[in-house]
Amino acid sequence: STLHTVRVGGEAGHYDIAIGPGLLDDAPRFARELRGRHALIVSDAHVAPLYADRVEATLRTARPGVQVARFVIPAGEREKTLARFLECLDALAALGATRDAAVVALGGGVVGDLAGFAAACWMRGIDVLQLPTTLLAMVDSSVGGKTGVDLPQGKNLVGAFHPPRAVIADTATLRTLPERERRAGLAEVVKYGAIFEASFLDWLEHHAQALLRGDDAALSEAIARSCRYKAEVVARDPYEHGDRALLNFGHTFGHAIEAEQGYAGAGSRALNHGEAVAVGMVLAARLSAALGRGSEADAQRLRALLARLGLPTDLPAGLDPQALLARMRLDKKAEAAGLRFILWDGVGEARIVSGVPEDAVLAVLQG
Ligand code: NAD
Ligand code: ZN
Repeated sequence: STLHTVRVGGEAGHYDIAIGPGLLDDAPRFARELRGRHALIVSDAHVAPLYADRVEATLRTARPGVQVARFVIPAGEREKTLARFLECLDALAALGATRDAAVVALGGGVVGDLAGFAAACWMRGIDVLQLPTTLLAMVDSSVGGKTGVDLPQGKNLVGAFHPPRAVIADTATLRTLPERERRAGLAEVVKYGAIFEASFLDWLEHHAQALLRGDDAALSEAIARSCRYKAEVVARDPYEHGDRALLNFGHTFGHAIEAEQGYAGAGSRALNHGEAVAVGMVLAARLSAALGRGSEADAQRLRALLARLGLPTDLPAGLDPQALLARMRLDKKAEAAGLRFILWDGVGEARIVSGVPEDAVLAVLQG
């Protein structure tokens, strides 16, 4: 089996991302990343019963005498709240966590964002080890240091930049991930090909079946390549003043779709984040073509790949284009000058474009 390591560097600090099956049992690796005598495992009600005992055993082997506690939230985006954040701080206080304590975030992006934010704030910042267990968390949320929680007024409105001490992605945990969640993560993987490198899109086209099957080698390779792209951008632009925003390809449309649907959770018929981003990327590619940038052929190629991966590529019926446009005006990435989109000039060539005319956006939304 293959182990991949990706180093993230830059002004905000250095850390390693390790990717491979069985890493949750790799005590020597955990020993290198743990400093103090306290560790708080933060997880959710789906993931903790599957993996928390193993992580706790590994922590005890890595650091004999360590005091370990757990903070487990119910699963789902609705739990990424200030209330849960405060409970997490309470758990750190009850543990007697000192400045060299570690928060161990075991789960998907919800757990990673919440736990990372608690680590950013406890005593003005302690270590967080990210142990992502969803494909989305492995290729996106665990890397790059963005942490935070939602408010009733909107997603991710409160947070901090707090890079992890390390990311340890045990790809064997993906075997228990519901298939729909795996496909949602693949949308973010396709995003990296679309914005950074045509040859990665070729590779994805060749490995679509293996990725859908959950083939270990294909998934590990896709995760490692995705992390490399993200690491490069994050190193150049850790605080998103510039081209880190390219990672939002498909997300202006995607966020509007999610918001219009009311952030309905998985299991419902509403699109989840990755699915909304898949539709959003197709819309962004079509908008690019309409504005004389990328070609219709490239937009079709992107749509075909997403469809092969079992992802939606059309706006769900019943969403009102005018309402979606209004959501995009309110997006926190919007500017006074007009709508800002990540568009492409072709596969692998994404650009940040300001002042996009609303009538062009509306035309794309209307099909
Ligand atoms: P999630 O954390 O809700 O996980 C999805 C579901 O899968 C949950 O029900 C979870 O309990 C379950 N699950 C997780 N791992 C499992 C496993 N191995 N086996 C079985 N079930 C498992 O959602 P997500 O898609 O991982 O993350 C979405 C969140 O990530 C959003 O809140 C989003 O804002 C955030 N995000 C953050 C960043 C960032 O840079 N910080 C980037 C992208 C997304
Ligand atoms: Zn995303």
